[in-house]
Amino acid sequence: MGQDAPRRIVVVGGGTAGWMAAAALVSVLPSQRVQVTLVESEAIGIIGVGEATLPHLRHFNETLGINEADFIKATSATLKLGIEFVNWARKGDSYVHPFGDFGTEIAGLPFHQAWTRMRAAGKARDIGAYSLPVRMCAANRFDRPAEDPADFASRFGYAYQFDATRYAPFLRQHAEARGATRIEGIVDTVHCDPETGDIERLDLKDGQEIEGDFFFDCTGFRGVLIEQALNVGYEDWSHWLPCNRAIALPSEKSGPTPPYTRATAHQAGWLWRIPLQHRTGNGHVYASDFIDDETARQTLLDNLEGAPLADPRPLRFTTGRRKQFWAHNCVSIGLAGGFLEPLESTSIHLTQIAITQFIELFPVDNDYTLERESYNAHMTREFERVRDFLILHYHATERTDSEFWNYVRTMPVPDSLTEKMALFRQTGRVGRYQQGLFLEPSWLAVYLGQRIVPQSWDGRLDTIPEESLGQSLTTIESQIDQAMSRMPDHDTWLANLAGVE
Ligand code: FAD
Repeated sequence: MGQDAPRRIVVVGGGTAGWMAAAALVSVLPSQRVQVTLVESEAIGIIGVGEATLPHLRHFNETLGINEADFIKATSATLKLGIEFVNWARKGDSYVHPFGDFGTEIAGLPFHQAWTRMRAAGKARDIGAYSLPVRMCAANRFDRPAEDPADFASRFGYAYQFDATRYAPFLRQHAEARGATRIEGIVDTVHCDPETGDIERLDLKDGQEIEGDFFFDCTGFRGVLIEQALNVGYEDWSHWLPCNRAIALPSEKSGPTPPYTRATAHQAGWLWRIPLQHRTGNGHVYASDFIDDETARQTLLDNLEGAPLADPRPLRFTTGRRKQFWAHNCVSIGLAGGFLEPLESTSIHLTQIAITQFIELFPVDNDYTLERESYNAHMTREFERVRDFLILHYHATERTDSEFWNYVRTMPVPDSLTEKMALFRQTGRVGRYQQGLFLEPSWLAVYLGQRIVPQSWDGRLDTIPEESLGQSLTTIESQIDQAMSRMPDHDTWLANLAGVE
């Protein structure tokens, strides 16, 4: 790898992960530093699921210089303000994990402290009543957040729900226009240096040979480079996240487009509903140890809201992660790096973090041992944090109506999660989660939604009269009403955007 010549980066795989990586590399790094080649195979195709995202994707698109309206039109995207969880703690329960805060600080303390005290006194509504994005979901409203941080309407974020088959082609155009080269073909043999173990060259089935300095494995669950060639191993987390199969099925749209994703718990897993502009994405994620494929398929069909648009498509996976995300001169990104199931729409986000982190640590010379260690430690932390957050949804349940729920309710969970849950139960504190993907409001939404309510609140609130706290809650509700009164409904917002060139 010469320091003067640009690094030859070879991305294998042209799904969402591969084209996100290629587009980011050529957009962010100068052509004097990188030369990007992407190999993909139309014969193999892409997984074609992965429609719900997190707000951070907006930042990714912005960094690449992508125009939001162009992106929304090209991917038939809708806007997403959070995820509604139905039947998780108990059958009949429902809560929203919103992209935004609950209330505002009261007496300099997090809102939920005052809310906990007022709730104990029977003088507070459900926590969702104090969240702008939760109320927007219920009323089907959408607008971009206000820019003025003093405006209550600035206190939320939003993400997208898009057609999983359209984001990669959209990014491909972007990447090719900025100098990425695409090669059609199937990687057949991976040649490694016998001394260092680094990947040197890929031979394609049609005889093409591709040399590179650095390789991105974006080949999906196959892990053609990271696993089949480098054998790094996989850390299996199925004992904590036992869902291992999914059936995906698009259906016709029915009714207004909700600005949120829905996850409805069932006998041995959950159903997703993701509204797009032109259709609805549906699927059943389930654990094959607890339900057979035919019953899982029937459950999905029985709960479909519109007519099916295709045959049900089965998928298999094992929750977990590669033991090393970056090994030798190969970084595994997207499903090749690991998969934690789609409950909180985290996969594309973890892909984004992986790409950003690699670019931050982009090796300046041939010895990148420290960068590699740092990268692996960072990605391990990110995966483990998401893992704990996902386990919480299953473990904090009161359901006893199936073997699956009995298993997840009583299974031992990672110590890191046990400690977090105990801290919240006892003190209402969520302050240890200032870092990582899901911050305080997210944990709060899921704790409370899963019926984990703090036993106490911050003692400093006891000096404030109840009437004054009650007044603060009422003020927040009217600020939300005011902010919402200025917003169009979601479909109108999308229709207005369609007219924007
Ligand atoms: P793939 O799309 O599988 O792409 C792999 C690429 O590698 C393809 O281009 C293929 O042709 C190529 N390839 C493979 N082998 C070779 C070879 N030998 N030679 C050349 N090319 C090769 N994520 C979210 O963020 N939100 C969601 O809501 C969500 N829902 C999901 C639901 C399910 C049931 C599943 C399974 C996943 C979901 N995901 C979700 C994850 C999401 O689908 C992926 O993160 C995303 O699509 C990226 O996939 P990928 O690019 O890693 O892999």
